[in-house]
Amino acid sequence: MTHRREEHTFIPESDLEGVSVDTLAVRAGQHRTSQLEHSDAIFPTSSFVYGSAAQAAARFGGDEEGNIYSRFTNPTVQAFEERIAAMEGGERAVATASGMAAILATCMALLEQGDHVVCSRGVFGTTNVLFQKYLAKFGVSTTFVSLTDMDAWREAITDRTRLLFIETPSNPLCEVADMTALAALAREHNALFVVDNCFCTPVLQRPFEFGADIVIHSATKYLDGQGRCLGGVVVGSDKLMEEVFGFLRSAGPTMSPFNAWIFHKGLETLPIRMRAHCENALQLARWLEQQPAVEKVYYAGLESHPQHELASRQQDGYGGVLSFTVRGGQTEAWAFIDATRMVSITGNLGDVKTTITHPGTTTHGRLSPEDKARAGITDNLVRLSVGVEALEDLKNDMRRGLQALET
Ligand SMILES: *Cc1c(COP(=O)(O)O)cnc(C)c1O
Repeated sequence: MTHRREEHTFIPESDLEGVSVDTLAVRAGQHRTSQLEHSDAIFPTSSFVYGSAAQAAARFGGDEEGNIYSRFTNPTVQAFEERIAAMEGGERAVATASGMAAILATCMALLEQGDHVVCSRGVFGTTNVLFQKYLAKFGVSTTFVSLTDMDAWREAITDRTRLLFIETPSNPLCEVADMTALAALAREHNALFVVDNCFCTPVLQRPFEFGADIVIHSATKYLDGQGRCLGGVVVGSDKLMEEVFGFLRSAGPTMSPFNAWIFHKGLETLPIRMRAHCENALQLARWLEQQPAVEKVYYAGLESHPQHELASRQQDGYGGVLSFTVRGGQTEAWAFIDATRMVSITGNLGDVKTTITHPGTTTHGRLSPEDKARAGITDNLVRLSVGVEALEDLKNDMRRGLQALET
């Protein structure tokens, strides 16, 4: 069969069979209009038109595939969904307005009153609030356990447990979960195994290869990578995603076409960005480990990390986030942060710009003192999301922080 390439308004999936995640990041989910644009078009439109009343009826009735209304069908959003699904190795993706909307949509679509969730303790602070405060109001209860304690997971499961939820590596202490073991446990109890893959992205870790049923992202972080907009996505089997899609269609926490375009383009540079983040973070972690004013560095790339082996098996790199404790308490941690001059003081992560934060009083400030203690969020803990600036310049800024502790 001969291809006339100018007729391609769609790259057939077979052309991408067997290619690496780096290639999928650039090539998957590309559609062209009749203008044959090289970069993807944006479709900022709320609705779509039909050739006839009969066609409109067929679309609404589900007899004909096609766009209807951008709460649930938009070509730009669909392009992003196809690309991230291909990269994760999932059948289908459903994009949402934020990472939290992705978690909410998953739970609303797949859980019901009386169901029980087991969730790792070190999850994103707002995820914790969503489960404890809001899902609880609708009769879905949650037990929080240590990410790495398999006995605790086993003990927490009841006959109503329908979902196991984790982030790996965890935020901010970079603990690593054994996904194969958790997937087996979930299957044994007929529960879904959900992995928030925000920290690694599919470039470094593809949870479906380890038995996950659903992968969730806050696209706000590395998928964008330049801190421009909020978004989220849920990836999984056609069957599960049909339910999540149904919730989105009915409830409306939808991704905007503008944001989808940013994320779609962001994915193109994700592989090279992730490698730059990993390289800088590993070098900085090793350097920080040698500083006398630094007590302990938490980063799975260090041989001193308790799950270093496991991380090496599951991940193609150790990510851009690391934490460390300084000698002293909150006063010293804040002094370190305030003495830096280049890195941004902000709770956000996954940006090309390095960010620094004090988890105990920001991202994890809403946890009770007991929950903080159990999660290992101490007063002297500082978290870095290492960007892609030159390593030497990052070290110089960290030196300013360290100097503040000497005086
Ligand atoms: C930021 C974040 C979320 C929430 O995403 P939003 O886009 O801010 O709603 C969920 N999980 C993790 C791991 C995150 O870092």
